[in-house]
Amino acid sequence: MNTQYVQGDCIFTRINKSKKQYEYLTDDIDTDVIIIGGGVTGAILGYYFSKNNINCVILEKSRIGHGSTCITTALLQYELDSNAMELNKYTSIENIIKSYNLGIKALDEIQEFVDNHGNSCDFKRVDSFLYTAMKLEKKEMEEEYNIRKDSGLPVEFIDENNNPFLFDVKGGVLAKGGGAVLDPYKFTHHLIDVSCKQGLRAYENTEAIDVKYCANGVTVETVYGYKVKGKIVIAATGYNTALFTKRNFGTKTTTFNIATRPIDNIENIYKNVVIRDNKDPYNYFRTTRDNRLIIGGEDINFIPDIYNEELCNKSYEKLEQRLKSLFPNLNIEIEYRYCGAFASTQDNLGFIGKGPDNSKLWYCLGYGANGILFAVLGGMMLSKLYLGEADKDLSLFKVDRFDN
Ligand SMILES: Cc1cc2nc3c(=O)[nH]c(=O)nc-3n(C[C@H](O)[C@H](O)[C@H](O)COP(=O)(O)OP(=O)(O)OC[C@H]3O[C@@H](n4cnc5c(N)ncnc54)[C@H](O)[C@@H]3O)c2cc1C
Repeated sequence: MNTQYVQGDCIFTRINKSKKQYEYLTDDIDTDVIIIGGGVTGAILGYYFSKNNINCVILEKSRIGHGSTCITTALLQYELDSNAMELNKYTSIENIIKSYNLGIKALDEIQEFVDNHGNSCDFKRVDSFLYTAMKLEKKEMEEEYNIRKDSGLPVEFIDENNNPFLFDVKGGVLAKGGGAVLDPYKFTHHLIDVSCKQGLRAYENTEAIDVKYCANGVTVETVYGYKVKGKIVIAATGYNTALFTKRNFGTKTTTFNIATRPIDNIENIYKNVVIRDNKDPYNYFRTTRDNRLIIGGEDINFIPDIYNEELCNKSYEKLEQRLKSLFPNLNIEIEYRYCGAFASTQDNLGFIGKGPDNSKLWYCLGYGANGILFAVLGGMMLSKLYLGEADKDLSLFKVDRFDN
């Protein structure tokens, strides 16, 4: 069966004019670092490696930014998919707080990129709000609030007495400046554009079909027979890692997004916050620069052949109803519906670092709902590691921290 990782009419590739096209590989070449995958993760790696004057190449089998990058909601928040007390079954509260702070660091890094290179990706730093509409879950929200407050994170507790939103909130944690939104397709292209000026070479329509490892380095064979020689290879292939390993990195689901047409009268409060509810699976939503609402969630067990129209329509329908119930005062018309593979992990963290039994194979896999922020951390930490400096927090993302 042909596994489909992305399906539907994706907002970000539709609203953006076709971005720059990159050449495909037509020669054998040498480099130091070979990044396989030209999604947002590959682009972020390319940026940090080239910024640190490390020779690097990106190989993308299709078009840059057309994998899960184009269907991501790009709702960035430092908190993780599950609440701290839930995650405490798998990891310590200390590590969870560390992850929250690393998420803030990654948000600051994107802010800095935009400040230095221009905001061509509609980046906006906003607050982040996690809430429940169920009285029974209020205590859970209070616990989450207290954990974050006690660790010094700027948070405010919201309940019926101070709820500024138009929907029902029984308890919620508002994290000041704890989130951001951006256009992931524009961001990916901007990163590669800047990186190429720093020395990165990017090739699209260039599938890596084989990787050979030897004492001196690696050789990647591409689809038309040309080879790339380097010192290490980094897997930035998202949810498809079969070229590198049989290891199963996360639990796959199929997840759904819908985006409305622009809406004139969205209240300003929704333009300055990203929102997630406490359900399982949860719904999350954000606005766009042109005043659309994007809502995501309604995950189902992973179906490799996701062109199951009936099943997909059920999830799209649920998302639409949810949006209409949250915003009964708005004229909601859905323009885009799309879905794709998503993978989560027990501790909600991605995988960053050297392969467990091959020091020339490195990974940067942004599994979990914070994939983009993990990729930023991956770019920072792996480029440092290449220069001989191991980040003390890299161990949180160890590739073999779970049994296969
Ligand atoms: C619906 C949805 C919503 C999400 N929402 C959020 C969110 O709000 N916030 C957030 O931070 N994260 C979110 N995520 C997660 C986030 O989208 C991912 O972490 C991110 O898109 C992964 O980017 P990537 O570059 O790793 O993967 P991809 O964009 O899939 O890129 C991998 C690339 O590798 C290429 N490739 C694969 N094999 C080869 C090969 N052999 N040779 C060459 N190229 C190859 C593919 O063609 C692809 O372009 C969401 C994911 C989904 C699916």
